Amino acid sequence: MSTTKSEAFGTADWKRLLRTLGEDPERQGLADTPERVEKAWAHWTRGYQEDPVSILKMFEDGSEHYNELIVVRKIPVYSHCEHHLAPFFGHAAIGYLPNGRIVGLSKLTRLVNCFAARLQVQERLTQQIAESLLEHLHPQAVGVIIRCRHMCMESRGVAVPGEETVTSAMLGDLQHNHALRNEFLSLTRPD
Ligand SMILES: [Zn+2]
Repeated sequence: MSTTKSEAFGTADWKRLLRTLGEDPERQGLADTPERVEKAWAHWTRGYQEDPVSILKMFEDGSEHYNELIVVRKIPVYSHCEHHLAPFFGHAAIGYLPNGRIVGLSKLTRLVNCFAARLQVQERLTQQIAESLLEHLHPQAVGVIIRCRHMCMESRGVAVPGEETVTSAMLGDLQHNHALRNEFLSLTRPD
């Protein structure tokens, strides 16, 4: 959804927010804050401008005979919850069983960023990554596990500091093939 110019949030609005929070937006330390915040939010929500199809478009060769799980762990996740606009962050592990096509490993990180750099809930983030891989790479199986700390929960005492929320999505053969599922889980187990 695009915003018209009159709807766009500008410097005056950020100053108003600062004032609402009890601050003096004119004091020296806050002078450039509206501009900085605007740039930072453009970066944190850049995913809306990115298309998973073009990220996964170029497939790499040499995978015709590779029929074992490919797992990438510890992919950094930086996102913001859509309920509080508060950061949640952690790591993703992605695994898939190729069906004749593999994708460059850096593309998996870009795919995570594409969905994480939006307002999210962790459950949907996990599902979106798994579904877009299934849809565009057509693997036999795909699994995504995300572990994140949520500032909105920890700082308000809803969760113990350091507590991780774990979400997973298992699609294709991972849904019913228990041996494959166990292999995936053992390969993605945190240290
Ligand atoms: Zn939240």
